Amino acid sequence: MTINTLEYWTAAADKLNPEGRAFIGGEYVEAASGETFESRSPIDNRKLADIAACNSLDADRATAAARAAFEAGHWAHRPPAKRKKTLIRFADLIEEYGDELALLDTLDMGKPITHARKIDVRATANSIRWSAEAIDKLYDEIAPTPHDELGLVTREPVGVVAAIVPWNFPLIMASWKIGPALAMGNSVILKPSEKSPLSAIRLAAIAKEAGIPDGVFNVLPGYGHTVGKALALHMDIDTLVFTGSTGVAKQLMICAGESNMKRIWAEAGGKSPNIVFADAPDLDAAASAAAEGICFNQGEVCTAGSRLLVEDSIAEPFMEKVLAAISTWKPGNPLDPETNIGAIVDEAQLNRVLGYIEAGRSQGARLTSGGGLAKVVDGGFFIEPTVFQDVTGDMKIAQEEIFGPVMSVITFKDEAEALHIANDSIYGLAAAVWTSDLSRGHRMAKGLRAGSIWVNQWDGGDMTAPFGGFKQSGNGRDKSLHAFDKYSEVKATWIKL
Ligand code: NAD
Repeated sequence: MTINTLEYWTAAADKLNPEGRAFIGGEYVEAASGETFESRSPIDNRKLADIAACNSLDADRATAAARAAFEAGHWAHRPPAKRKKTLIRFADLIEEYGDELALLDTLDMGKPITHARKIDVRATANSIRWSAEAIDKLYDEIAPTPHDELGLVTREPVGVVAAIVPWNFPLIMASWKIGPALAMGNSVILKPSEKSPLSAIRLAAIAKEAGIPDGVFNVLPGYGHTVGKALALHMDIDTLVFTGSTGVAKQLMICAGESNMKRIWAEAGGKSPNIVFADAPDLDAAASAAAEGICFNQGEVCTAGSRLLVEDSIAEPFMEKVLAAISTWKPGNPLDPETNIGAIVDEAQLNRVLGYIEAGRSQGARLTSGGGLAKVVDGGFFIEPTVFQDVTGDMKIAQEEIFGPVMSVITFKDEAEALHIANDSIYGLAAAVWTSDLSRGHRMAKGLRAGSIWVNQWDGGDMTAPFGGFKQSGNGRDKSLHAFDKYSEVKATWIKL
């Protein structure tokens, strides 16, 4: 049986017996309470594993293990070049076990197996390797002191870092945090989403195999309101890094204020505008990028191009191209290597997306594609890619993050109006502009209040570019050398000579 068939992946899924326990101090353990919850696949509702339902007792255990490892210095004091070597081995092993990790994510949260293998696993290994490669090339500073003094400005690891991540890219989101955190010498506690814990739990054993010392990397599966909140309120966690919704990000900030003022770095929601001017250099490319921007990963992407802004004069012919491009994205069995749209993560999320589709209809937007459930596999959660035209800025579907394959199309008459609509959002994660006019491209890029701007493309960037949000899309940046700011404290040492 070749790897490029549904039969191959169905058989591989049937054979899989995923680990569901927590990983604390270098070993898999049950939750202190002994409680578990079931992980079920959104593909067909099959049971995948019993997952340890960690709570505050486990947060205490993991924090104690992480603190002890940090203070022992086996990792934190290891020379950067040696931490680099271990982390590169970690990245290599992630690739070696890549098919297994990809299958875990596909089964757990419903993304197509081909994307899980070719995008998620590769990006995860690449992200950890990039942070590892950087760490022995970062120098500290010497201040411009008077002749009889020496001022050192050094960066130190913060200590114990908790990382709380979402379910849409379980591996990649984890790697954006644990790569720089570990490279910097911190001890880490990773809390995956209760909707997609399997790959994170597997990563723990891979980290140990790579040579990361016991206690330096811990994984606590469980719910946000139990173990997540316990981490946020913990008195001995120095920094909490988060990717998830804006609502939860705000709660974490309150928790920090109510506990030890731990640093909170949040990457949160988005409602990203994709702005197409009549002078776009290639309208076919813009249409196909618009379709991909809302269909990729079932639209469950923080930077989904959920608002398509189109110049009035080309609205009709351009939307024909967009609808044609959208029709090539067909919900299918995620285990089929040909599938490009998989299952929605769970029933709650499915209902949330359907609720927004209903809101679009009832507020008077014009449904021009999709709008309902897709029949793919019995028991699974599949939805048709959906397009609403004649959307106005005050509608719910123009303002709120849907986190599903639902595009809201708004037209504009000129550059000023396009900029106004684009910035009329509590979010500011990403935005794209399609134009042949170089000056307009730059003017728009300057005017858009968002952390990532793409000109004549959607979703550009790699590990060399920082990623994060303006406004309520978050603070701080993942990826690039800027990411190390989250995982280090800056110390000034002043010496009288
Ligand atoms: P979510 O906020 O519901 O959950 C994220 C994580 O927080 C999960 O691990 C969850 O268990 C935990 N959590 C929930 N309540 C908590 C609490 N009270 N205390 C502590 N932890 C808690 O988000 P989600 O549904 O998993 O993910 C979707 C969201 O993530 C979207 O808003 C999306 O835009 C955002 N996201 C942002 C980025 C980015 O880089 N900006 C990337 C991916 C996803």
